[in-house]
Amino acid sequence: MAFLTPDSVYTIKIGEETRTVNVKIIPDGATAEKNIASYIQKGDLVKPNRKLSDGSGIPRGITVHNTNDIVAATGTNPAEQYARATYPNGNMNGVVVHYWVWENEIWQQLSDNEQGWHAADGKSRTESHIAGKEIGGNVDTIAVEIIQSERNEKTEKTAAILIAYLLDKHGLSPETDIYTHNYFYSNKYCPSVLLPVWNTFSNEIKSFYNALTSLQENVSADDKETNKEFSVGDIVNFNGGNVYVSSTATSAAGNSKACTAKITLTAFSAAHPLHLRAVNENGDFVSGVYGWVDVSTVTPKETTSSTSKEEENVEEKIPETEQKTFAAGEIVSVKSDSVEYYPGGVKIPSWVKTDYFYEISQVTYRGQKMIKGGKECVLLGRKVDKNTGEKYSSINSWISTELIKAEK
Ligand SMILES: [Zn+2]
Repeated sequence: MAFLTPDSVYTIKIGEETRTVNVKIIPDGATAEKNIASYIQKGDLVKPNRKLSDGSGIPRGITVHNTNDIVAATGTNPAEQYARATYPNGNMNGVVVHYWVWENEIWQQLSDNEQGWHAADGKSRTESHIAGKEIGGNVDTIAVEIIQSERNEKTEKTAAILIAYLLDKHGLSPETDIYTHNYFYSNKYCPSVLLPVWNTFSNEIKSFYNALTSLQENVSADDKETNKEFSVGDIVNFNGGNVYVSSTATSAAGNSKACTAKITLTAFSAAHPLHLRAVNENGDFVSGVYGWVDVSTVTPKETTSSTSKEEENVEEKIPETEQKTFAAGEIVSVKSDSVEYYPGGVKIPSWVKTDYFYEISQVTYRGQKMIKGGKECVLLGRKVDKNTGEKYSSINSWISTELIKAEK
């Protein structure tokens, strides 16, 4: 079988580091030409063909695996070779993962929103890193298979870059949303090379994650002056049209239908200056537009009901003299009269103030207090349902401690 050729490629860039992801998704509905595993007999589907997280398609974590390094054929590399062994060759005993990583090479075989077979936990769920919430390796997470038989600096760096990118892309936290295979299936000591040095690897992921999120903050700060109409965090109407993989891409990667979306990045000097992600009425990311688009395809969303909604929520004014100290993990709300996240920062959308509480995910940045616009800030992480306490994807926004208050 000839080497795989990717259907598309995209570049992950964090600081000076760039990696290319070779995308060759196993076709939906593809069937086995032979018996591959006990659960994949000849004629059966070769991948689950199911969306993550009970059909929502929203990843709730990343599962890290190790598999043995191999000597690849001349002209290719182990990441491509493992991908090809999975599909179309059917030689991986039914293991189907999202990403293969070896040295600087990354191959993707499943979309981020679909289930794989990799955690040996079937369709089951177990207690997650977040108290009171359950998670399943197969049914809720993205699998990253890191090809190494012993420590390999290059391979681990590429894996850390990819995982940092995926965490950020899906609003996941490096603190709570990375899992190891043995978390779901304790009989298997996997990732075997990384478990003994897990803190080192975890810190490498966090450093790339922090570099990525701080880069985005800088981009939005630089662009703030040049556009009054749109800013990061705004909920807008996407009217349908071309979507690009980068703000400067010369040709579109595809197009998406009209939907409600959130602006997650801006680059107003570029050709396609708004980065959008489709959201539902709760502001949670859903499938739909995901990428850079032209301003002409976006219109601000009318927020006619927000004023009356805020008025209903007006609470007794409490004198706010002292500046409170907050801790990571604390649950807070955003005060209803807040305007910008911090002086000179982006505007806080009204749903952020009305719809959720938030879990503070960080109170420092690289060991220092985070000062923005002259105010001490903390990082708002997961959204928390005001009634049930259930936690949802993270909003990842630094906010002045003066604009939040503690909730039970
Ligand atoms: Zn594994």
